[in-house]
Amino acid sequence: MTNKVLVVGGGGREHALCWKLASSPKVETVFVAPGNVGIAKEQKVSVADVNVKDFKAVVAFCKQNSVSFVVVGPEDPLANGISDELTKEGILCFGPSKAAARIEANKDWSKAFMDRHKIPTARWHSFTDPENAKQFIKSVAFPAHVVKASGLAAGKGVVVASNNEEACQAVNSILINKEYGVAGDVVIVEELLAGEEVSVLAFSDGKNVKLMLPAQDHKRLMAEDQGPNTGGMGAYCPCPFITESELKLVEEQVLQKAIDGLRSEGTPFIGVLYAGLMMTKNGPKVLEFNCRFGDPETQVILPLLDTDLYDIVMACCTERLLETELKWKDHLSAVGVVMASRGYPFTSSKGIVITGTDEVSKRGSSLVFHSGTALSGSDLVTNGGRVLIVVSLAPCLPSAAASATEGARSIAFDGAQFRPDIAHKGVIRAILAKGALTYK
Ligand code: AMP
Repeated sequence: MTNKVLVVGGGGREHALCWKLASSPKVETVFVAPGNVGIAKEQKVSVADVNVKDFKAVVAFCKQNSVSFVVVGPEDPLANGISDELTKEGILCFGPSKAAARIEANKDWSKAFMDRHKIPTARWHSFTDPENAKQFIKSVAFPAHVVKASGLAAGKGVVVASNNEEACQAVNSILINKEYGVAGDVVIVEELLAGEEVSVLAFSDGKNVKLMLPAQDHKRLMAEDQGPNTGGMGAYCPCPFITESELKLVEEQVLQKAIDGLRSEGTPFIGVLYAGLMMTKNGPKVLEFNCRFGDPETQVILPLLDTDLYDIVMACCTERLLETELKWKDHLSAVGVVMASRGYPFTSSKGIVITGTDEVSKRGSSLVFHSGTALSGSDLVTNGGRVLIVVSLAPCLPSAAASATEGARSIAFDGAQFRPDIAHKGVIRAILAKGALTYK
């Protein structure tokens, strides 16, 4: 156990990644940059004193510390070429090149890529001229009510409008008022799709894919999908209403096709390819691709993974994924409830004392992954919008949901917001689809 690895990022997703990598008997040290106070408390984890925006400094750190590989959490460093810089210097990077990261960073490119490779997605058109975009919205035969900024907008930049008028307003705010800055120099106007949303993430070594268990995110701030969109207020895994045959279809028609397409265009993709899907009555359709692990999906997927993550990452970085079998804790479900600070998603409150996290972590079946936390003296305090996530594992989804929600209730800070209904939709869908008695 002499291996050292570096995780780039500092949110709940990176906490889960560090926790999982640290559990590997093959890993001696998990360096993390910038990390956070919750991650720093994990065994074997060491916060690296390196500026992750300075890729040359990251390369130097990896060389000095004989790092086996780098796992990149967020999309920004990938879109800015961290993987290219590391690879050029002979350091293994689990995360795609700048060119392959366009699948997330440039929606205009990504949609055209999907069309080139016949990957099912919503019908669309891109525009730089607002009048042309509005003309399209008014004249096209399908409800063109989804308006997206083409570039990276920190999880924002998508408007799902209820009618033509709202969609036209969204065009104005993105193209004319520049609500998302240069990310909105181009807009995508897209067909509104109906169905159940699911996230399917896959490991890839550039050639092959291995799917993770399907997960479902909860984007809206409040119960019953009310309130504004957020970075994600909770997630659960696996999704009991997705069938094996649907997953097979997603593997063949979406993920493998995308990996084949990227490879055939000379930009092979190594890392995690994340497909945000709408399961429509005409089959799965891609809403978006992400070029990295999702947050908060990762926090509910990784606790169910039995296989050593070090082995999987190493296999992906050396084109040996086919030799690695993924094993899952099939007998368990995981539910994660995000706790956010007052004002989120519009503002956040910092420096508010948080109590109860240690007690919840000590329960055998629950984990607390930190995102926006800091220390003030010896007090744990809030330090951002999404503060932490309570993840519970249980033999069935309702018990996991009850346990995670109870965990969130046991953690207190002034102004705390969390959804009391994470996974409820999944429980209901599963019972309706399969009958309560056969429900896992
Ligand atoms: P995206 O970042 O592209 O996944 O979009 C954010 C959210 O907007 C998704 O999670 C969906 O809830 C919704 N959305 C995006 N595209 C569509 C679409 N074509 N039809 C319906 N909803 C969509």
